[in-house]
Amino acid sequence: MKKLLLLLILFLSFSNSAQDTYLHCGKIIDTENGKILTKKTIIVSADKITAIKNGYVSSSNLKDIVIDLKTKTVMPGLIDLHVHLESEFNPKKGRLDFTANEADIAYGSLDYAKKTLMAGFTTVRDLGGTGVNIALRNAIAKGKVVGPRIFTAGKSIATTGGHADPTNGWKNSLKGDPGPKEGVVNSVDEAKKAVRQRYKDGSDNIKITATGGVMSIAKNGQNPQFTLEEIKSICDTAKDYGMIVAAHAHGDEGIQRAIIGGVTTIEHGTLMSDKSMELMKQYGTYFVPTISAGKEVAEKAKIKGYYDELVVPKALAIGPKLQSTFKKAYKAGVKIAFGSDAGVFPHGLNGKEFRYMNEVGMPAMECIQSATTTNALILGMENDLGQIKVGFIADIVATDDNPINLISTMENVVFVMKKGVVYK
Ligand SMILES: [Zn+2]
Repeated sequence: MKKLLLLLILFLSFSNSAQDTYLHCGKIIDTENGKILTKKTIIVSADKITAIKNGYVSSSNLKDIVIDLKTKTVMPGLIDLHVHLESEFNPKKGRLDFTANEADIAYGSLDYAKKTLMAGFTTVRDLGGTGVNIALRNAIAKGKVVGPRIFTAGKSIATTGGHADPTNGWKNSLKGDPGPKEGVVNSVDEAKKAVRQRYKDGSDNIKITATGGVMSIAKNGQNPQFTLEEIKSICDTAKDYGMIVAAHAHGDEGIQRAIIGGVTTIEHGTLMSDKSMELMKQYGTYFVPTISAGKEVAEKAKIKGYYDELVVPKALAIGPKLQSTFKKAYKAGVKIAFGSDAGVFPHGLNGKEFRYMNEVGMPAMECIQSATTTNALILGMENDLGQIKVGFIADIVATDDNPINLISTMENVVFVMKKGVVYK
């Protein structure tokens, strides 16, 4: 009996000391139903949303906090499916391959991670770096540093000389012969090994470079760089480990091999044909447009010396096409996910992607749904993220204006809560 009483006292004192947060929200974007709700109170306990009430409700517990968002539009934390938190392009970046140690990369990434979170992106998928992105994910998850929740591919998988071969453009005596451990494969078996290595390293998902790319020191930006069998091998092995595969792809042949091979998302998709769009619908493949990166490289390629001379013609040819490809794919009914490729352009500007998508015909609500419910589903987090709903993780952001009327407000997120903690 005494023991029970003690337990009861303990329980009462705990439930009294728990501090809840009451968010008084003028508008809430209901991403599940594509609607705007007005005058609601979201109650957050620890890291979860525990109640949503009509009107502005206050608490009788003096310890609870009330946050006034009555003039704001409140929505779930945003998700960007394509970032590179280890780096940010600048003309001297090539030299960093030879001078920056992992610790240097790690310290640099802290700033990028913080900027991303402050821009309202509470979750990101990091699609390729050196592996420091795995340590960064862990440090953020443990609360040691500030940043978004990360789902990371670790090091991308390429083929020899392909878009993510880490020694492209190096002199012969330094090139060596990177293999599956470093993410370079040249057969079905090596493809399996590279995926298993990523799993061992702690990657959450897999990224492949199915075609040439713009930023690599290589001639072709669109040639297919994996055989269909190699892609199948990667996707099948990834499936064994519960990982999805993202394929960087510009050229049409590589896009089709990636779709048929079983990837979940096509990144960039620049030169996709009508046939590829049909294939994407047939296979249920998502398109991650990264229009922001296209705009950035097309613009910066005009500055003399900004990019390597092998990069410039590719940037000028591919960059401007991303937005029109997106427009066609959206109209054709291809499933659209949200991803910006931040790192190709400065981190924290991820929100520009909303404006670029909206500009060519995707309604604002659908743009926001792509960055919330759709992306949460792709990450397998559809019961935890992407909605403001009881039981979901308390990732909540807000803008001054209603983005349905003014999409550019997504570039200026004024309130950020992640896992119940207010960061902005
Ligand atoms: Zn990228």
